[in-house]
Amino acid sequence: MKITGECFCSEIKYEVDGTLRDARSCHCSRCRKAFSSQASAYALVLPQEFKWLSGESLLTSYVGSHGFGLQFCSQCGSTLCGIYNGTVHGITLGCVNGDPEIELGRHIFVGSKARWESIAEGVPQYQEGEP
Ligand SMILES: [Zn+2]
Ligand SMILES: [Zn+2]
Repeated sequence: MKITGECFCSEIKYEVDGTLRDARSCHCSRCRKAFSSQASAYALVLPQEFKWLSGESLLTSYVGSHGFGLQFCSQCGSTLCGIYNGTVHGITLGCVNGDPEIELGRHIFVGSKARWESIAEGVPQYQEGEP
């Protein structure tokens, strides 16, 4: 299955020739800022199944203290993917085009969600990280 994604200004495009794995939403305060949202919506990809199709030169990276970082479009600001030690680790679900045929499997760090957020029921919720 080919999944494509792109940033808001459409300059950066990518393709995943495979499947998305372990879609999750993290509600911790760090993810709220990193994703400029109530939570992250993120799925893992295998690095060998991921490739940039265009606009790679516009990518900017922010790498945190543990080697994990995010890459975003320097023109429009969309966060496109997570990287670990320089390799693509996963993608933000918000930039995926169409239906990637995956659903969120869990909500994590629900214990530190923003007070203004109500999380829909039906998906397992965990107060912290991995159960
Ligand atoms: Zn862009
Ligand atoms: Zn988080």
